[in-house]
Amino acid sequence: MSANSERGGRPEFGPCDGCGLMVEFREVIDQQHDVALQPGEFPSQRLPQRARWHLASGIAWPGENETAWCRLDHDLICPAAEEPEERVLRNLQSRLAVRARLAWDRRSDGR
Ligand SMILES: [Zn+2]
Repeated sequence: MSANSERGGRPEFGPCDGCGLMVEFREVIDQQHDVALQPGEFPSQRLPQRARWHLASGIAWPGENETAWCRLDHDLICPAAEEPEERVLRNLQSRLAVRARLAWDRRSDGR
């Protein structure tokens, strides 16, 4: 746990401002902002480097670590954001778009 960490490295779960899907907000090592991570882990090799994050004591770091798995920056695949260049990210974005659409439909049913 970082001595300077405000939240002690704990995640905060909440809806993304753009698409409304649940994301995991984590403090970033630079302490200037939070990053919204896509819940779950992803195979590092399949993702472009700019999308890869990892956690150390609950604090998010961009880039590499030694494991085959990484966390993914939600903003790069957010259905409300621009279409990413990389095909693997576009595929993930379109899957999330379906999930977001279903969630919107449920909400507009008033349930
Ligand atoms: Zn989003």
